[in-house]
Amino acid sequence: MIKVYNTLTRKKEEFRPIKGKEIKMFVCGPTVYDYSHLGHAKTYVQFDVIARYFRFKGYKLSYLQNITDIDDKIINRSNDEKTDWKKIAAKYEKEFIEDMKTLNIHSVNKYARATDYINEIISQVKRLIKKGYAYKISDGWYFDLEKYKDYGKLSGRRKLKKDDSVSRIDENKEKKSFGDFCLWKFSKPSEPVWESKELSDGRPGWHIEDTAITEKEFGVQYDLHGGGIDLMFPHHEAEIAQMESISGKKPMVKYWLHTGFLKINKNKMSKSLGNFKTIKDILKIYSPEVIRYFIISNHYRKPLDFSQDALENAKNSYNRLKNLCGELKPEGKINENYIKKFEEEMDDNFNTPRALQILWKLLRDEKARGKLKTIEKMDEIFGLNLLKKEKIIIPVNILTLAKERENFRKNKEWKKADEIRNKINKLGYILEDTEKGVNVKKG
Ligand code: AMP
Repeated sequence: MIKVYNTLTRKKEEFRPIKGKEIKMFVCGPTVYDYSHLGHAKTYVQFDVIARYFRFKGYKLSYLQNITDIDDKIINRSNDEKTDWKKIAAKYEKEFIEDMKTLNIHSVNKYARATDYINEIISQVKRLIKKGYAYKISDGWYFDLEKYKDYGKLSGRRKLKKDDSVSRIDENKEKKSFGDFCLWKFSKPSEPVWESKELSDGRPGWHIEDTAITEKEFGVQYDLHGGGIDLMFPHHEAEIAQMESISGKKPMVKYWLHTGFLKINKNKMSKSLGNFKTIKDILKIYSPEVIRYFIISNHYRKPLDFSQDALENAKNSYNRLKNLCGELKPEGKINENYIKKFEEEMDDNFNTPRALQILWKLLRDEKARGKLKTIEKMDEIFGLNLLKKEKIIIPVNILTLAKERENFRKNKEWKKADEIRNKINKLGYILEDTEKGVNVKKG
């Protein structure tokens, strides 16, 4: 039985889907106005592992993520770069999906773009107006928090502070209360606009896209919602307020899971703080597997400090692990004892660091059998390509040297042959003499 820490109840709970073995899981996706950074990688790798684990346990998981392709940040970027907002969004969406694939994230069933759900968004705002939860001021329709008494049940707070997702707070002095948020923004010259007779022409506020998408894809109640801890307030509170007001059904989501921040010099890594390292930049130095190893060596709920040293450590550990796995021979059946231990850790709120330790323990256990098959199974969840054979390309100069050495050996000029072998070793390669000839390997 999987246990998850549910932000909504502040407890570790047994995970029971609403319907049988089916799970509907939604995770907040990126706003596509820039390259994705390592903070995004942390959240999405950790939810990828969670998704893989649910499937491993036999659940039928439907994993949905939104893409925010209309938002103030995208519009600002398009004004700065004098480029159509659609082009900006399309470009960074493509880059994001590419980064996800490179990081071995293939678990998402559907990426849903906000602009493909405008009818659903308009329909939600109209229903909120009809039910008396929304009011109109000069620049748009706003949610009236006074009307929704449960606001704050997820995060334990109702009030905004100045440093809460500041760029995303809709400021207007006419608002009834400071925390009220915009559902539909009236059109402004040179901004993207969608027609609506009832609402007046305009564009969606930020929080409404997620509930419009999930209502269409999942219905008014579903199993699991995830995202980074920064989104818990006010974004996730706003989602709950919108959906539960429309449907009258509670809770909108049974389990809420939040990932801790990736930090750099004690601050959250973020685009707005300008302290970010893009996934693409990091990939120039480290392999996707090392990045995944770095992320999953840490529990998803905990913050993770980024530093060159931390990534170097991850690289060394990963390489050691991969080398040890490379030496395994296919013998024995899956080691059920170790799989059980592994599952115990993963069942405990997806404890990937401890599950990784089980894998290390298995490797070092001299008596254990079936290591290769067992690790193969565990790696279905970690996605670290531990048993994938790398295609090593041996440089031409090394191959030429190896040939020269062969000729010396044929002529029984052993000293010269040994000299060349040493030279090859110094260049980082080793020669293995076998019955069939010489193998050249990376040292
Ligand atoms: P954004 O593009 O800022 O809307 O973020 C998309 C997703 O990435 C959200 O779930 C965020 O919570 C998450 N995220 C952004 N920055 C970080 C970070 N530094 N560490 C962990 N998750 C993050």
